[in-house]
Amino acid sequence: MNGLIELEREVISTGRCTSCGACTTFCPRMKKTRALPNAQTIRGLFRGERTRVNCDKCETCYNVCPASPSLDRRLLKEETIGDTIPLFLAGQITDERLHELSHDGGIATAITEYLLSKGERVAVTVEDRRYPLKTLHTTLRAPGEATRAAGTRYGTTPNTLSLREDPACFIGLGCHITAIRRAESKGLIKPPLLIGLFCMRNINYQNLLKLLGKKGVKREDVREIRIEENHVKIKRRGDPDSDLAVSLEEVRDLFRDECRFCPDFTAELADISIGSTGTPDGWSTIIIRTRRGRELIERLVENGAIRTTDTVNRDAIERLAKLKSQESEKPAAPTSPGREPLSP
Ligand code: SF4
Ligand code: SF4
Ligand code: SF4
Repeated sequence: MNGLIELEREVISTGRCTSCGACTTFCPRMKKTRALPNAQTIRGLFRGERTRVNCDKCETCYNVCPASPSLDRRLLKEETIGDTIPLFLAGQITDERLHELSHDGGIATAITEYLLSKGERVAVTVEDRRYPLKTLHTTLRAPGEATRAAGTRYGTTPNTLSLREDPACFIGLGCHITAIRRAESKGLIKPPLLIGLFCMRNINYQNLLKLLGKKGVKREDVREIRIEENHVKIKRRGDPDSDLAVSLEEVRDLFRDECRFCPDFTAELADISIGSTGTPDGWSTIIIRTRRGRELIERLVENGAIRTTDTVNRDAIERLAKLKSQESEKPAAPTSPGREPLSP
């Protein structure tokens, strides 16, 4: 039997937990839990005597975890989206104001705003209004709110908890999408439309602040941070000449350790994946993997919300996807001490 104890032993104590939130989201004993900023809190919940006593060893937490070493990704793909041939497009939002606020082509923003305008809910990551650059998961409901989620963000957010608000669309990273597909394969959820964002590696809020401190940049002044193949770009508000490019070597120890195990650059189980690799500045790469995904993109084009072309550098995407997959098979040594194991 694989349950909470195995999850602790194989995932949390070994530093693999991506803080996706799925164990808590789907645990029948934790249905009412809401505030979960990070894995430590999830561990705290598991540690709580009441929770532990009430754990009925249903195995759900283990079965939905995207970081479980026993996960067979090929089988999960077969069981959920099937063996589809992905369609690659370049896309750009047509609304100039939203394009200005978005990074790249603003496709995730266009999808969000389009669905909100149809009265649908969209689960997204936003910036905490009190603390610039700190990320939160939330569900948007009103037209015009897409601007809250526009732009690239890095952080550790248990976005799957937003599923409790029954969104029509969920926008997240590959680890979130994998967890939701695992839940789907177990019959625990009929997933919303899943939009996955390309992700090579991630950084948490505290380390982001360390990086900015090292470079003498105030978080309020940051317009955009982008982790790219060889460096981290920090763009400041106002003056493009003050943008910084910090080499990956210099900041490698600030990245989230759990991402070393992740093979999924393009969120390969999403209905639609979106990223910047493969298209020029001002455009986004769109990978359509399912009929649902294709229908949505067609609707956006028909409504004039986005424009698309088929000019995408697939080699660039496939090279990074292969690199990430290979690195995950032989993960580098952790840069921070592992979390201590929980006592059984
Ligand atoms: S009740 Fe099930 S999902 Fe919840 S902690 Fe126990 S084994 Fe995991
Ligand atoms: S389900 Fe997500 S939050 Fe829970 S242990 Fe696995 S990776 Fe961590
Ligand atoms: S690299 Fe993988 S595990 Fe890390 S945040 Fe991105 S999708 Fe999640």
